[in-house]
Amino acid sequence: MNAPSLVKGWCPGALRPMESGDGLLVRLRITGGIISAPKAHIIAKAAMQHGNGLIDLSGRANLQIRGVSASQWPHLIADLSRHGLIDHDAEAESVRNVMASPLAGINPSALLDIRPVVKALEARLVSEAPLHALPGKFGFLVDDGGLFGLCGQSTDIGFEAIKSGDETLFAVRLGNTETVALITPDQVADCAAALALTFIKTSSKSDKPLKRIKDLISLIGTEALLQKAGLSRLTNLPIKPASIQPFGFHPLDQTGFVGIGAPFGRWSANSLDALADIAAKDGTGELRLTPWRAILVPGLDAKAAKALIEKAGREFISQASDPRLAISACPGMPACRNASVKTHEDALAFATLPSLAGPSGMRLHVSGCEKGCANPAATTAVLVGKNGLYDLVVNGKASDTPHLFGLDKAAAEAALNDLFKGVSR
Ligand code: SF4
Repeated sequence: MNAPSLVKGWCPGALRPMESGDGLLVRLRITGGIISAPKAHIIAKAAMQHGNGLIDLSGRANLQIRGVSASQWPHLIADLSRHGLIDHDAEAESVRNVMASPLAGINPSALLDIRPVVKALEARLVSEAPLHALPGKFGFLVDDGGLFGLCGQSTDIGFEAIKSGDETLFAVRLGNTETVALITPDQVADCAAALALTFIKTSSKSDKPLKRIKDLISLIGTEALLQKAGLSRLTNLPIKPASIQPFGFHPLDQTGFVGIGAPFGRWSANSLDALADIAAKDGTGELRLTPWRAILVPGLDAKAAKALIEKAGREFISQASDPRLAISACPGMPACRNASVKTHEDALAFATLPSLAGPSGMRLHVSGCEKGCANPAATTAVLVGKNGLYDLVVNGKASDTPHLFGLDKAAAEAALNDLFKGVSR
């Protein structure tokens, strides 16, 4: 394999990695977020051997091997290919952008086992070449209707299992709209293809290419889009509240699972390796990747769960109330060339602010620059790196006009304290 063809932007893959401040970033899309312990070992070993030993778990439940040099990249791909972890081509890899309920097949509260549905959807996206024209960020989601579902996760085309009388159907959601069509589980792949082809066709005739399904809805409306794709069973289904974040021990049936997170989704290869060992020894031999940046270890009894949480200690996150979950931070220095601040290190220091602990609802975004990659939404406070200092945006996005400028770390901490005290009064 020759040198990688690089893309600029935010949707890298393994075959089209992204150049970053610490080398190539190689993103692996793991089907359904389900990874066997042996494969997790292989990825951890590859990250140590060919990268800098760091692995990100992204907000779309993908694993990203960091710090790969151009000369090591072909060896990394060869190693991972031998174990079935690499797609046949970059187009197939890019379109396989499907998020699934992380406990698929093992969650007693689920309405059905969605694993075959997810596989069929991915197979269709890969095999139907015209679908490869979808934009890089265009995503699909399959929710099994059980606890720890994916409500609230950003997507373009979502399939949410619901009960309709004795039948289990899928509600087809376009982005986060309430209007849905209802289909049977075996219609999911056809329906996804029909909607996506409608998107592609309309986009090709539009003055400006469309990026997300919301652009198409603004252009032609939800009902017209469903009709164009041959879907007519419309109903209104309120959007469910976001799920609780699955950190810590959660009993399921005879056993349960433990959700463990690394701050800002930044894992070391060694810690992934250790988690895979525990999954093989005490669990079902699998790890489940989640968009909450938690890795789930299923099949643990209460004793094994306690041992894992103790072993994880304070370095890792095992409680949904952990203040580090109230902070988003982009990779920053040295991982991103646009950054002049050490976002992760600084964000960990800000996590000790008392007002961020507990259910205050306040959130902090520490961004290396005004692009705001780690969190495009408005946030209570956004610290935006500039020339080694921070500007502070209040209730806005990283690109909004700051309230305060040029803060060093101590001044930023003081400003956050004042702000959060004011907000909570
Ligand atoms: S927000 Fe800026 S510094 Fe952070 S990852 Fe994106 S481009 Fe890099």
